[in-house]
Amino acid sequence: MDGTGRESGAAEAAGFEDLSDSEFPDFSELGDIEELGNQPGSSLGDPRKQVNSQGPYKRKREADAPTPMERFYLRCLWVSDLSTQSWCEQQMVYGKELPGFQSAEKAAVLGAGASIHLARELELHDLVNIHTSTKEDAWAVKLLNILSMVPILQSGGTIREFPVFGEIEGVFLVGVIDELHYTSKGELELAELKTRKRPMMPLEAQKEKDRFQVSLYKCIFDAMVKGQVTSASLVHHMKLSPELLLGSQVQKHAHQGGFTVKSFGDLLELAILSLTLSDLPVIDALKIEYSHQETDAVLGTEMVVFEENRVREKLRHHLGYWTGLREPQGVDVKEAWKCRMCDYATICEWRKSGGRRASTLEQPAQKMSR
Ligand code: SF4
Repeated sequence: MDGTGRESGAAEAAGFEDLSDSEFPDFSELGDIEELGNQPGSSLGDPRKQVNSQGPYKRKREADAPTPMERFYLRCLWVSDLSTQSWCEQQMVYGKELPGFQSAEKAAVLGAGASIHLARELELHDLVNIHTSTKEDAWAVKLLNILSMVPILQSGGTIREFPVFGEIEGVFLVGVIDELHYTSKGELELAELKTRKRPMMPLEAQKEKDRFQVSLYKCIFDAMVKGQVTSASLVHHMKLSPELLLGSQVQKHAHQGGFTVKSFGDLLELAILSLTLSDLPVIDALKIEYSHQETDAVLGTEMVVFEENRVREKLRHHLGYWTGLREPQGVDVKEAWKCRMCDYATICEWRKSGGRRASTLEQPAQKMSR
């Protein structure tokens, strides 16, 4: 199969509405100067150490109040949302609650980034439009993409836009890996492309967000090839019906790829078997490449050291918000510079309250500088 497919129609219902998960708006660019000008000595320390799900900001939540996952009708979380959350959790929440609030400038940065990703994807394969009318169809397209890419990777080739999914720390995560290839040493390397509006490398806060993103991809991909991601888990979390017959276009596309499947469950078992029997290695190296949007010039690359305990600790902290253990938090005082370029600065409750919500948090945080 030479096409990778791209779903339409029921994509939103399946939780795959963000088809460009592999690219995010690089909001930090607008604030590089501000971060450099941040005053030393105002740090509250590592915010993750101060505010964890068991810590001082633990939420006094009504037992029957819906969790954010329930409130936003989410069955899974996108790696992109978790990555955005690590920039500013409150900003990510506003982005979900007030989607029309994003400035035109940031939307343009995102649009340009997505175009560059699409061009890179087209370098390796054609895109095929497949009509989907159910969430099972939408997931089937992802599974067909996996089935078409696994053999390429097995034979030492390069693949782009590889879908990943799986339950990590009790929550079902989904994402799309930009690129997987083998290095000259034979290591399986994940390469993430980040495009930047300005021709300069990002500062530390942006790099940290990107490191978290690729580390999560590794957690999910490794679980998939180790056989830790099961069909039952996907069906359970996404509330899918394995017995449902696939749409005619999906069946036709599967047939062209050499797969004779009728129901979603048949295809799912095939994809899971393909992954677990593939003998694909876990990801050995994580690389992030920063390039200039306008000229496509490479600005620099970062090799990320994977620290599983740290990544999982951070993930658990983020999930504390989604599972209703605590209220959303804005930026720490040492990162108040982010507020100056934030679309939600004029309405942000966290900022207005100086970094705390007296009515919902058990202990006040240190007042945030303006
Ligand atoms: Fe986060 Fe600051 Fe924006 Fe509030 S104003 S959402 S704390 S970046």
